[in-house]
Amino acid sequence: MAGDLVLSGVSKRFGAFTAVHELDLTVPEGAFFALLGPSGCGKTTTLRMIAGLEDPSAGKVALGTQDITELRPYQRPVNTVFQNYALFPHLDIYENVAFGLRRRGVKEIRPQVEEMLELVELGSFGKRKPAQLSGGQQQRVALARALINRPQVLLLDEPLGALDLKLRRQMQIELKRIQTEVGITFVHVTHDQEEAMTMADTIAVMNAGVVEQRGGPADLYDLPATTFVANFLGQSNLVAGTVLERSGSDQVIEVHGSKQVVPAGRSRVTDGEVWVGIRPEKVFLARPGTEADANGNELRGGVVTDVSYCGVSTQYLARMPWGQELTVFEQNTGARDTFAVGDPVDLHWNPSHTFVLDAGQDAH
Ligand code: ATP
Repeated sequence: MAGDLVLSGVSKRFGAFTAVHELDLTVPEGAFFALLGPSGCGKTTTLRMIAGLEDPSAGKVALGTQDITELRPYQRPVNTVFQNYALFPHLDIYENVAFGLRRRGVKEIRPQVEEMLELVELGSFGKRKPAQLSGGQQQRVALARALINRPQVLLLDEPLGALDLKLRRQMQIELKRIQTEVGITFVHVTHDQEEAMTMADTIAVMNAGVVEQRGGPADLYDLPATTFVANFLGQSNLVAGTVLERSGSDQVIEVHGSKQVVPAGRSRVTDGEVWVGIRPEKVFLARPGTEADANGNELRGGVVTDVSYCGVSTQYLARMPWGQELTVFEQNTGARDTFAVGDPVDLHWNPSHTFVLDAGQDAH
C-alpha cells in the first residue's frame, strides 16, 4: 500500500526569493489531485520537490509512512509526465513504452506493454514512430510510458498544455478514465481552472507560493475562502459591505444603503468591512418593481451598460448607483425577459448563494 502523499512545512527558496512557502498538503491515496494557480505561483516547483528533482529548503515529503525527502528521483515510486512528452523520436511506440522495463532488466515485457497500449487505446499503434502520431496520441504514449513503471504517484505537469482546445477536452475525460482504471494517485499541475475542475476530485489553489484553499471543485466554487480564489475559479461580483448584526443564525450586512441577509455558514467574517460575493449566473435581472422576492437579496437602481450574447447564455453588465459594474449571466432558455443597454434593472438572488469574505484583502 502506497498511502497518502504528505508535504509538511515544505518551502523552496531560490536565493532571496521564496517560490514555495511552508506548504502543508495531504494528497489522499488514489486521489486525482490538482495543483491550480497562475503562472509563477510555485506549482511546478512543488511538483519537482515531490519528484525529487528539486531539494526543499525546509520541510518533509512522505509517502505513507516513508519519509522520501532525501531519496533520489529514481528511488522514489513516482513518475512524471511533462507537457513536451519527451518521447524518443527514433524508437517506435512499443519501444518507447517498453523503455522503463528494459532499463530495469524486466524479462516479460510484451504483455505489460500491450496492456498499457490498450489502456491508452493505442493497441494498434505499436509500430509507428512518435512523429506519425497526433499530439493527443503522443501524450497518451507518454502516459503509458510513465504508468508501465507502476508508480505509486503519477505527477502531471501541464500535460495537456500543447493540445488544442477540443483535444484538451477529450484528453481530460480520457485522463480521468485512466486514473479511475489504474487507481493510483495523480497530482496534476495546471493554470486552467476549467481543466482542474473537470478532472480533479480535490483542488489546491496556489497563489504566490502558498495554498489559499483546498477542497472539492464544487465546494471551492460555491464557497471561496479568499478574493483570489473567488476570482481565479470562475467570475465573482464582489460588493463592499459592513456587517451590522447577527439576527439568530443569519447575518445582516449593509451594502450601499441596502440590507442583505446572509444565512449561517455563508460568511467567514463576524464583523467589520466585508466583500459580499455572488456568482454572475446566480443573479437575476428584473425590471424595477417586479419579481422582487421578499426572502431574497436585492440590489436596486442598476442600468444595463452592455449585453453580450453567448449562445447558451447572455452576459449583462449593470452599472450600480455607486458606480460599480456587476456581471449577470442569464440562461437563454426563452423563458425569461431580455434587456437592452440603458434599461433600468434590479438585481436579485437567493441568499443561500451569497458568500462573504474579509475585506482586509483586495478584490482583484
Ligand atoms: P508556470 O505555470 O509558469 O510554470 P509555476 O506556478 O509552475 O508557473 P514555478 O515554475 O514553480 O511556477 O516557479 C515559481 C517561482 O519560482 C517563479 O517566480 C520562478 O521564476 C521561480 N523559480 C523557479 N525555478 C527557479 C530557479 N531555478 N531559480 C530561480 N527562480 C526560480
